[in-house]
Amino acid sequence: MDTETPIKEVVEELKEFGGDAVKLCYQCGKCDTVCPWNRVINFSIRKLIREATFGLPEIELEEVWRCTTCGKCPQECPRDVKQVDDVVAMRRIATEYGVAPPLLKPVRSASASLAAEGNPFVQERSERADWAEGLDVKPFAEEMEILYFPCCYVCYDQRLKEVAQATVNILNKAGVEFGILGTQDNCCGESIRKTGNEDVFKNLARENIKTFIGNGVKKILVSSPHCYHTFKNEYPEFKANFEIVHISQYLLELINEGRLQINKEFPKKVTYHDPCYLGRHNGIYEEPREILKKIPGLELSEMPDSREDSLCCGMGGGRIWIDTKMHERFSNLRTEQAIELEADVLSTSCPYCIDALEESRSGLNYEDVILVKDITEILQEVI
Ligand code: SF4
Ligand code: SF4
Repeated sequence: MDTETPIKEVVEELKEFGGDAVKLCYQCGKCDTVCPWNRVINFSIRKLIREATFGLPEIELEEVWRCTTCGKCPQECPRDVKQVDDVVAMRRIATEYGVAPPLLKPVRSASASLAAEGNPFVQERSERADWAEGLDVKPFAEEMEILYFPCCYVCYDQRLKEVAQATVNILNKAGVEFGILGTQDNCCGESIRKTGNEDVFKNLARENIKTFIGNGVKKILVSSPHCYHTFKNEYPEFKANFEIVHISQYLLELINEGRLQINKEFPKKVTYHDPCYLGRHNGIYEEPREILKKIPGLELSEMPDSREDSLCCGMGGGRIWIDTKMHERFSNLRTEQAIELEADVLSTSCPYCIDALEESRSGLNYEDVILVKDITEILQEVI
């Protein structure tokens, strides 16, 4: 940022962009104690908050872009300083001033692709529904029970397409009347918003809302906790209120209603990693575990940092597009925890987590030791 930028102006902007709670901080340091970054490097969110209080956040430095918005420190903060909102407000100021450290280059390209093609991968919109080729998937129609909205990662990423395919196979087996909107969907916009880019987020949100309303959508099923969070908690800012269901909630419902039968064993030791945006941000801890517990032969074991204390995979807050050095990856620590447990499968329920955990599994040479699976991929094997 221009060093001559009036400090008062920055304090005012921080307030306008939702970071006003920085002033409540009394520097106790609890946030630094729980922040996962301090397991791999030195990082002080407390210091950032302090600097912001005086209108001096160093927005040109990587520090402002480290927070994965995991939600761990806000739940511990005795003064309700709302660190996630504060950091996003700092990033909004940086975006407004056009300040971006070199590591943000991939974020710029993701942002341009989101604006042009509705996905962050510089992929064609016309290829968004290619994952469904050869599967029994219909275009959504108003009289259907539910719309399935796969996230961009699930649509375009080779590994994550398997999650969409597993989801579809399960829904068909349960006889659910569902459809997709395919190339009409846009990214939900969660991650780009966390990088401070409100304009791109708002355009994506408006387009999606227009599409949902235009197609008579009332209930939306999502694979990603990031889509869940955005549709449920942020789209109401646009006066749009759809019924949003995460796949873990929906599958448990299908099993409990007797629409989905589990009739095979899964004789493996499984541990479950709580995604931040499903657990801490939205309180969904039990449903994925309940599903796993219903599978005969499956032994569910808990890792040390679970439920409210879950260890972030490192991909939230726009970090999915930012390169994190191998020795700084939280997902490596998480994978080691699963290995310690001697689990056969490290399961989760989020595309970002799967991406991070798969990278750690191969980076740490555990490919022959443990599998990473979405809960849909496990369930698909036993129905
Ligand atoms: S935990 Fe809250 S009050 Fe304590 S230093 Fe962190 S932000 Fe400030
Ligand atoms: S939200 Fe998570 S990553 Fe961000 S500062 Fe707090 S504990 Fe660290």
